Amino acid sequence: MKQTSEHFKAHVTAALADPTLKIALNRTTTLLRERRAQVIADFGEYAAAREAAQKIKDHTLDNLAHYLAMFEANAVASGAQVHWARTPKEATDIVTAICKAEGARSATRVKSMLGEEIGIGEALAAAGVERIETDLAEHIIQLAGDPPSHIVMPAMHKTHEQVAELFREKHAQPSNSDEIAALVESARRELRPKFLNADIGISGANFLIADTGSIVTVTNEGNAELTTTPPKTHIVTVGIEKIVPSMAHATVFLRLLSRAAIGAEITQYTTFYNGPKRAGDADGPETMHIVLVDNHRTEMLGQFLRPMLRCIRCGACMNHCPVYAAVGGHAYGAVYPGPMGSVLTPAMSDLKSTKDLPNACTLNGRCNEVCPVNIPLPDMLRSLRARQHQAGLTSGMTRGGLAVWGWLARRPGLYRRATGLAMFAMRVWSMNRGRIRRFPMAGNWTRHRDLPQPELGTFMQQYNRRSRK
Ligand code: SF4
Repeated sequence: MKQTSEHFKAHVTAALADPTLKIALNRTTTLLRERRAQVIADFGEYAAAREAAQKIKDHTLDNLAHYLAMFEANAVASGAQVHWARTPKEATDIVTAICKAEGARSATRVKSMLGEEIGIGEALAAAGVERIETDLAEHIIQLAGDPPSHIVMPAMHKTHEQVAELFREKHAQPSNSDEIAALVESARRELRPKFLNADIGISGANFLIADTGSIVTVTNEGNAELTTTPPKTHIVTVGIEKIVPSMAHATVFLRLLSRAAIGAEITQYTTFYNGPKRAGDADGPETMHIVLVDNHRTEMLGQFLRPMLRCIRCGACMNHCPVYAAVGGHAYGAVYPGPMGSVLTPAMSDLKSTKDLPNACTLNGRCNEVCPVNIPLPDMLRSLRARQHQAGLTSGMTRGGLAVWGWLARRPGLYRRATGLAMFAMRVWSMNRGRIRRFPMAGNWTRHRDLPQPELGTFMQQYNRRSRK
């Protein structure tokens, strides 16, 4: 069954009851956090690079139309065909029309979240084009019939033992070993002939470079080059926010992206594509199409969600989010999970069907801290909560509670007396055991753990007492 954001709480309950998922998430998020911390500590210019990246993105977003027009002119001059799509449907219609015109029966594909966002898999299937995912993790989830659970590590929800079992069931010549190297070899045997026989290669792009009309892909497996070079046609689907003014600007992001994403100084393959094959080139596609997709991005440009368009899809916010690390990506029921997804999904759909997502956050601020382009995710999640409240989407109990709290907060004397009384009542309530095992209106908390006995005195009383010392 397809998971949707509307059933977030049910997905969370199921995810928390899955011990294998917990092992898979722990292994990978811990490794990625440790690696990132080390590589950032070794990168003396990190703060300056982060600030520069934010400024470049903000400048580009301020002049988005100018840079997109420059990109289009330069990409066309280098021989590519540029298409514009306002919606996911327009984008997939363009892709399937190209496939049809080429008489394509199969398409290899490099992992791209934009492709997931526009539903390229479903569109190719409806057009009768076989889709072959070439990224190792995407290959795994295609065999398993799963959606991606992370934007950089789409198979993060699987342990390598599960992958070994899957390959034994689905591969033509599987390995008997569970070793990772043997699994990679098995995938290589399976995918290699498909790379060479595909009619179309589809990729996304990590960056678009305005002053050269180039696109940039950043991968670790070399599958982007094998996807985009042998077929006659290369199609790129990419969000318009991926644009940067020049090659020099792109290098600022290249230094940040792999460090934030996988804790490495640079990825194995960074490729710049400038149009299709030219006379005298040994290889390359004969035609290259670039589909520039909006899908609510220009709406976000004009509102509080604008900083979200700085996102370079590194996934660091997910790796450092305690909620993501506990429930995994599928629970969010959306293409983009974790903190950035909890902002993007409501922005790309509606507040009502996604109302649990902005609330799936402890506001601890780690996501903002590790974001290489300094996106204030907690602020935006708070703004989305406020908008939900203004739109009447919060529960009666929440609205009532907030109304009482608001009334008291405007009367400080009464507020102090009320909180003092509440603390006293809670201490009496927990007198016997030193903790509270059941508490009215806090059942979701006390069902799983005890509430600690409150301290003596309110926060302000303790603060005043300590400041006097
Ligand atoms: S919001 Fe920041 S940390 Fe999260 S994926 Fe985007 S760039 Fe990376």
